[in-house]
Amino acid sequence: MKSLLQRRSVFNPKAVGFNSFSVSGDEAIVVCPYHDDHRPSASFNIVTGLFYCFTCGEAKNAAQIAKALGGSTERVKLAISKSRSSELNSLWHIVKTSPLAMNNEYLEKRGVSNDTVEKFGIRSVSNDIAILIEDFRREELLGIQIRRIDENNKIKYLSFGNKTAVWPLWHFKYSKKLSRLFITEGIFGVFNAEENGRTAVATLGAANAAISASFFRRRSHCLLFDPDLAGYLATVKSMCVALESTSTVFPSVEVDSLNDDDWNRIEDAKLIKNPSRFLRHLDNGIQDMVRLDMINFLERRRQ
Ligand SMILES: [Zn+2]
Repeated sequence: MKSLLQRRSVFNPKAVGFNSFSVSGDEAIVVCPYHDDHRPSASFNIVTGLFYCFTCGEAKNAAQIAKALGGSTERVKLAISKSRSSELNSLWHIVKTSPLAMNNEYLEKRGVSNDTVEKFGIRSVSNDIAILIEDFRREELLGIQIRRIDENNKIKYLSFGNKTAVWPLWHFKYSKKLSRLFITEGIFGVFNAEENGRTAVATLGAANAAISASFFRRRSHCLLFDPDLAGYLATVKSMCVALESTSTVFPSVEVDSLNDDDWNRIEDAKLIKNPSRFLRHLDNGIQDMVRLDMINFLERRRQ
């Protein structure tokens, strides 16, 4: 009989140098060697090798943490289950109860006000920004996204737990009464929309825009994705989903901003399986509003 547990090549926390640990899904819950830690408050991802302390904010890769602990980074084959333990929940509790990121320099620079910080519960963990991924009722934490700005002003993205199809789910619920919903690429798109008095939800990474048909039911949507290939493909995918429902989408991506390389990759991806559906959609009286020049796209495909 086939095992339900997946055997994967992972880092062995013991070999890396962690003395006591418990594994929950992909995360090993460990004691942090970078601060005076009396109960496990750090996570070591056995798949990615990423170490992160939810209390002091220290972040290291596998090689760095192994070196610090006098261990090694050899991998082992291990069956890991998908379940999440109460230890991991209590780790996440540290983030959930961390202070709000008020007057945060990075957030201020990106135009995010304290009101928005409060509304979305953006947390400050050590010097990092933590964004919570919660369920529809904001009762359960499904995942955490951490943004860390290092000494060289480079931004590092750390991701824990699940990514939902759109973010935030709870916001989506309140936006149901709106006639038009903005869908942005990334969390900061939601913040920017909020600062401008608009309600938006974000796809977490345009390339995986797994926007389900249920999100498009009886609605009008504005897709505000970046003018690059990922943003364009996410727009096309979203339009395909929207066409199956009764909704309308207004994309913002300029096709002309794509370069030849992008076009070749679009051909390879064969994402547009049935072009006539797009033409029908455009014939439906909205072509003036649709800045995405789909007809132009189809012409170029035929050449
Ligand atoms: Zn620590």
